[in-house]
Amino acid sequence: MNHHKKRFDAVVVGSGPNGLAAAIALARRQKSVLVLEASDTLGGGLRSAELTLPGFVHDTCAEVLPLTVGSPFLSTMPLADFGLQLLQPQIPLAHPLDGGRAAVLDRSIDRTAQGLGTDGAAYQRLIGPIVAAGRPLLEILLGPLRWPAQPLAMARFGLGAILPATVLARINFRQAPAQALLAGVAAHSILPLERPVSAAFGLVLAMLGHAVGWPVARGGSQRVAEALVGYLGSLGGQACASVHVSSTAELPQHAAALFDLTPRQILGVGDTALPAAYRRQLSRYRYGPGVFKIDWALDAPIPWQAEACRAAGTVHLGGTLAEVASGEAAVWRGEHPARPFVILAQPTIVDPTRAPPDRHIAWAYCHVPNGSTVDMTSAIEAQVERFAPGFTGRILARSTRDACQMEAHNPNNVGGDINGGVQDLPQLWTRPVPRRDPYGTPNPRLFICSSATPPGGGVHGMCGFYAARSALRGALVASGGG
Ligand SMILES: Cc1cc2nc3c(=O)[nH]c(=O)nc-3n(C[C@H](O)[C@H](O)[C@H](O)COP(=O)(O)OP(=O)(O)OC[C@H]3O[C@@H](n4cnc5c(N)ncnc54)[C@H](O)[C@@H]3O)c2cc1C
Repeated sequence: MNHHKKRFDAVVVGSGPNGLAAAIALARRQKSVLVLEASDTLGGGLRSAELTLPGFVHDTCAEVLPLTVGSPFLSTMPLADFGLQLLQPQIPLAHPLDGGRAAVLDRSIDRTAQGLGTDGAAYQRLIGPIVAAGRPLLEILLGPLRWPAQPLAMARFGLGAILPATVLARINFRQAPAQALLAGVAAHSILPLERPVSAAFGLVLAMLGHAVGWPVARGGSQRVAEALVGYLGSLGGQACASVHVSSTAELPQHAAALFDLTPRQILGVGDTALPAAYRRQLSRYRYGPGVFKIDWALDAPIPWQAEACRAAGTVHLGGTLAEVASGEAAVWRGEHPARPFVILAQPTIVDPTRAPPDRHIAWAYCHVPNGSTVDMTSAIEAQVERFAPGFTGRILARSTRDACQMEAHNPNNVGGDINGGVQDLPQLWTRPVPRRDPYGTPNPRLFICSSATPPGGGVHGMCGFYAARSALRGALVASGGG
């Protein structure tokens, strides 16, 4: 496609879920949009590939999609019409403990509480009101900082969310299963669990487990990207792969450029006309730990000791709260824990299309120091074997990527950081720099739409949605159209 001769209202650089969401938000307002993607496949964190053996389809980045169904913007799109089918495992999440038992996050709050024994009532008191606050609470949490429409619900959520996960778990629960369950969901923050707001991630993910489930995409996460691209096309937008943008001078004429990039990459793009002071702020942006990722082709399902794990789409491996917290803290000290906290998904329990008949796949990662090249294969496989004796005997093939290889696969994963930068209190709402409009830059035609803006990492497209809104209020007001 020769797009250089054309003029576009907006050019989006990068086709991750946020880039595609931004493009869709603009195309819905009758703006002409072009998305340019460096990789030869569109989708960014939403790509799938036969990483191990023919017929075994693995997700190269995102796999489990509670934020996609929970997203106030993506959930308004007719993605099913463009081939997307989300499949719900019987159980969203299980967290095994030594001795063959497991804590289970069931779709039902009641059943989850029953499984947590004497901590059940406390679980209901903690999670029940957050789930009841529903969509309006998600609208606030998955967006930039602003005054909430339901201040009481937000205050109730905020009181727990602001705490370190270790504190929230210990004030609410007495027993190991409930404490471990909360530690596991909170560890998605990639923060030390002793740090403020680490609890927030856990509460949101648990809430989504009950409210919308933790589904996977039939055929792989690439199908989400294909549906977004299909929908964008139906609105008149275009997307082009294999175009690496290294300078804005290479872009076709445009009124606004939206970068689905993180600060370090933006600093590497030429001709952005960003002033030195803003560039300095971008250069101070902090990246967090990376991930070591592993995908397996298996000749049978994983032989979990705890029955519940066999029906769970996601399994958190790391044992007790103390053990998970100590592993995550070690990563922040620059160490590689011998017993890392592992996030594992087993999509073939609901999606047989991902592997040949009677075969299975599994996807897992653990956190490692930023830029690590250490091979965590045996540490991760030992954690699986600990809760599923016989697992290693079922491996047909494996594919691994260390933190540096994650960045080579997608330059937005700087040093292997999958959240587009640390999501702690100082950088949660002020990403990438403290500004009234974090999506805008001092260049009135340049906007940032990646997960390095609020609300941060995950497949929700909300960074793209808000960046598009910012462009529509600014550079695109004068560009005509809708
Ligand atoms: C291993 C892993 C597991 C994950 N698991 C989950 C999960 O289970 N659930 C979940 O919700 N989230 C998960 N995530 C996070 C999720 O994938 C990201 O938060 C999300 O993809 C961010 O979207 P984005 O649009 O901001 O950026 P990305 O999806 O990273 O897309 C950025 C795109 O920009 C392109 N690009 C970069 N530089 C240029 C350039 N100069 N020119 C042109 N194009 C460029 C890149 O190639 C890339 O395609 C995971 C991420 C990883 C890496």
